[in-house]
Amino acid sequence: MQIRPHHILCIGNYVGKGYSEEFTANMDGICERLKNGEPFILTKGKDDVCAACPFLKDGVCKTVEKTDRYDESVCTALGLKYGEKYVYDELERKAEERIYGSRGLSFICGDCEWHDLCDNVRKNK
Ligand code: SF4
Repeated sequence: MQIRPHHILCIGNYVGKGYSEEFTANMDGICERLKNGEPFILTKGKDDVCAACPFLKDGVCKTVEKTDRYDESVCTALGLKYGEKYVYDELERKAEERIYGSRGLSFICGDCEWHDLCDNVRKNK
């Protein structure tokens, strides 16, 4: 499986909402596999989540400036490298320590349309 960095946060705060029915069905399956311990490769650009997203056009995210920026911020915050293999639980623990438990989500993706929902989900965990 291929996952881009900022989707570690999207997956950690996912509550069944998304851009389309196809998107959420795909996301449900990915979340289950990752939370059951399936490893993934950290990917630059489109990943398995993007594959069912209506905003992916010709293999590129329609909001690429934002989503690439989120990816870079997550890589820096968690000390991740593209092309490496990871397990979701390990990165969720790191995110808890270095993102949620310190500066919060806003410094990564404060301008995302889903930010407030994710922030509320996290505060209620
Ligand atoms: S909005 Fe962009 S980064 Fe997010 S899932 Fe869709 S294509 Fe991928």
